[in-house]
Amino acid sequence: MSAKPERCDIAVIGGGITGLAMASALHQHGFAVQLIERADRAPRHDPAGYDPRVYALSPATAGFLQDLNVWEAICVTRAAPMPRMQVWDRSLATGLHFSASGLGHGVLGWIVEHSLIAQCLWQALPAECLRCGVEASDIVFHDHAVRLGLSDGSELTAALAIGAEGAQSGLRDAAGIDTLGWRYESSAVVCHLHSDTPHQGRALQRFLQSGPVALLPLADGRRSLVWSTTDTDAQALLALDDEAFCAQLGDAMQNAAGALSTPTPRLRFGLRLMHARDYVAPRCALIGDSAHLIHPMAGQGLNLGLADAEQLARELASARAAGRDWSALRTLRRYERARQAHNLEMLALTDALGRAYRLDLPGWQRLLSLGLGAVERAPLVKQVLAGRAAQS
Ligand SMILES: Cc1cc2nc3c(=O)[nH]c(=O)nc-3n(C[C@H](O)[C@H](O)[C@H](O)COP(=O)(O)OP(=O)(O)OC[C@H]3O[C@@H](n4cnc5c(N)ncnc54)[C@H](O)[C@@H]3O)c2cc1C
Repeated sequence: MSAKPERCDIAVIGGGITGLAMASALHQHGFAVQLIERADRAPRHDPAGYDPRVYALSPATAGFLQDLNVWEAICVTRAAPMPRMQVWDRSLATGLHFSASGLGHGVLGWIVEHSLIAQCLWQALPAECLRCGVEASDIVFHDHAVRLGLSDGSELTAALAIGAEGAQSGLRDAAGIDTLGWRYESSAVVCHLHSDTPHQGRALQRFLQSGPVALLPLADGRRSLVWSTTDTDAQALLALDDEAFCAQLGDAMQNAAGALSTPTPRLRFGLRLMHARDYVAPRCALIGDSAHLIHPMAGQGLNLGLADAEQLARELASARAAGRDWSALRTLRRYERARQAHNLEMLALTDALGRAYRLDLPGWQRLLSLGLGAVERAPLVKQVLAGRAAQS
């Protein structure tokens, strides 16, 4: 293996899925890139195991992963196509029915485990682009470069640093970029379960006043649960025995998934909204959860992060191809302009929907239900909603 360079064009900090995809895309475009990841080895996908982080990937995300030459490996291993989705609140019969064929798509999306996507991206990245088992701890910006002090005592100098470290971003702090946001005082309880009714690729999501409950189809026939609810209710759900938990979930879903059983261990994620005031600063760009955190109800967090990575790689490559200074702030601002408006729209939409369902006014829940029914009867509006989610 060649010696690791101490200088590179671009340092990507954080080797989660967005950071891995970012580094891969930049490498494809011919940039000298170094990815710095705290974990010391590639995530391992175990088909017989339990990975609590499961994503609904949009067709746009699948296209990007295809460009990075990993989509086929993901699909061959396991990705559950999702041709149908039902969303409802009061009654299943009056909710929204999304169908891929009705909307002119092959599928609405695919359900894939985190470890599989991360493993495929990690394996596809040339070893000389990856510094794993180290953290970027000391970050200093200069006029013409950014210097990163790494936890193994080495230093790396780059023309641009990209923050993909997740919600706690040291690069964002070092660049002095503020964030806006709040905690939802809600948590998501996640696990996988068996059901006695085949899912046939159908995702189910019911809006309750306490939050949305979603069951996503997994490739092995099980269903993956994301149950967003108040912190207190989430604690109570974790404390139930398996039988009582499945019964309570069955009630919450109006038994739309049949009888549920054998849940994997349940985990709880605190939910919050966060948005960075700027996605860029001199010698710095933020992508993924370092730039924005969104409620999981729309299953969009990772899709948005990957779209950030794709857009940023495209802007940097086209600036260089046109002979412009690709690391200049004005190039980075083009990325920011392209992504910020779309991300904010998605953040605002999910936030407003969550708030609308939490409102406790006489007759309000019935009005919302009528609203869902009206969207179901307006194919154009439905198409717009599904189209927006597919493009993220
Ligand atoms: C319950 C739940 C359900 C969700 N469902 C969906 C869904 O269906 N679809 C969807 O699109 N999204 C979903 N999301 C959102 C999704 O999980 C996140 O948006 C996504 O994982 C963010 O990826 P990331 O790579 O930006 O950050 P992360 O996954 O947080 O990765 C950050 C990486 O950076 C590394 N790191 C951090 N600091 C340093 C440092 N200083 N030096 C070196 N390395 C560092 C970490 O080790 C880590 O590997 C869901 C979220 C939740 C909570």
